[in-house]
Amino acid sequence: QFSDTANTAGQALHLLQTVFGYPAFRSQQAQIVEHVAHGGDALVLMPTGGGKSLCYQIPALIRSGVGIVVSPLIALMQDQVDALAEVGVRAAFLNSTQSFDEILAVEKKMREGELDLVYIAPERLLTQRCLELLEIVEIALFAIDEAHCVSQWGHDFRPEYIRLSLLHERFPRVPRIALTATADQQTRDEIIHRLQLGNALQFVSSFDRPNIRYQIVEKANGRKQLLDFIQAQHNGDAGIVYCLSRKKVEETADFLNEHGITALPYHAGMELTERSRNQARFLREDGIVMCATIAFGMGIDKPDVRFVAHLDLPKSIEGYYQETGRAGRDGATANAWMAYGLQDVVQQRRMIDESDANETYKRVQGVKLDAILALCETLQCRRMHILEYFGQPSAPCGNCDTCLHPPTSFDGSVAAQKILSTIYRVDQRFAAGHVIDILRGIDTERVQQWRHTQLSTFGIGAEKSEAEWRALLRQLIAQGLVTVDYDNYSALILTEQSRAVLRGELKVQLRQYKKADKAVRHKRQS
Ligand code: ADP
Ligand code: ZN
Repeated sequence: QFSDTANTAGQALHLLQTVFGYPAFRSQQAQIVEHVAHGGDALVLMPTGGGKSLCYQIPALIRSGVGIVVSPLIALMQDQVDALAEVGVRAAFLNSTQSFDEILAVEKKMREGELDLVYIAPERLLTQRCLELLEIVEIALFAIDEAHCVSQWGHDFRPEYIRLSLLHERFPRVPRIALTATADQQTRDEIIHRLQLGNALQFVSSFDRPNIRYQIVEKANGRKQLLDFIQAQHNGDAGIVYCLSRKKVEETADFLNEHGITALPYHAGMELTERSRNQARFLREDGIVMCATIAFGMGIDKPDVRFVAHLDLPKSIEGYYQETGRAGRDGATANAWMAYGLQDVVQQRRMIDESDANETYKRVQGVKLDAILALCETLQCRRMHILEYFGQPSAPCGNCDTCLHPPTSFDGSVAAQKILSTIYRVDQRFAAGHVIDILRGIDTERVQQWRHTQLSTFGIGAEKSEAEWRALLRQLIAQGLVTVDYDNYSALILTEQSRAVLRGELKVQLRQYKKADKAVRHKRQS
């Protein structure tokens, strides 16, 4: 054990270079490592890919005894342990995928002091058997990874995490380091409170990824827009394209291949061997585009991913940030590009509504969806919006679409009134397509059938295209002026607030419509 500071710092740097092969610590890693190596508690908030693992791995090597890493990500444990073994760190894991013999073997090694790090799933750690084992071995530290899982309001709540406060009660002298990439103040407070980390030093890294350029465009023909974007800005580059469904993943990969772009599919419905093969090719070869569901990316570490594209709206800003964060890890310029449309909003809302989750969870998902919608519809800097969401105030960045090509806004009160009054006149019983047909004065069979040609609002919006009305409607949804009723065929319904707009008491500021294909043709960034 090292007591004096200079010595610990030297030791840490030495381990970083000789064991892990990196020349220098990043951002706050050095301070965190020193603090924990000296026995202090820490709360580390660092974005994905920021380098959280070394913050507990190196102190575990410096301190005597075994470092216990609590992690809910059972699927990653084998890889983590293999990667450590490769550099000569003695690591193992304990989780439900192992046979009893395997567990016995790990326990034996722990008792004999032959391990530097052990990854343990929380439900395993909390067993009587495991806690008794921990009483008799020397423990270097507890690392609580994905600490936001303790938050009931988060997207990843795990009830076992709440019981992890017993680590502090049963092992008061062992330092604890909690780590997460979710940094809003509420989650942070909850982690401190529930894990009894009141005395922990907090290390908050910047969430900004200045080399990533954010672009969110109006979706018309998503695949074609994606192709244009890749051909214009990313010929021969490695990238990831996220799609919501497995089918769309396959179709998008086929489509790109037909147009001369090497694309591979990746989703959980594929054979494991094929999936692994595609992943390996993506990592090893240059210029491959991976079309994937969000099943892809966890633990993927490829520095030169030049773009991440979303063909469907992500479920939350956290998800969007995590997925786009896989671009440009080498620090060179990279693009985060998304195409989104009204259909995305409808689809996501329906998925939340139709899921088997409990009401609280659904409500949280709804709030998260509203937040990402607001990001898509914002008239301000995208980066500012994202950073603000993570509790980090900033200024306009100059490197996102809204900074580079500021959208113009206009007083959309009249347009909003046209939509809202049409919704009202059809008794809030019809979906977007029908409402827009009425506005534009399109005489469809369905319009005939309901005698909607006779409504006073029939044709009052003939001056705008369907896409334009959809864009406006989306903004009204994002602003909470219209909601969608999924129990009733996605009918559009009014809200308390929308009545104020109808009465002329509330003005609505809307984004000027830009045609989709104009928005994607930026020059390649230099
Ligand atoms: P996180 O857990 O925060 O998402 P990781 O700990 O997995 O991030 O680290 C992300 C990548 O950055 C890994 O490949 C890791 O080896 C690398 N890395 C971390 N710290 C450094 C460093 N000081 N120098 C170079 N590479 C680093
Ligand atoms: Zn900006």
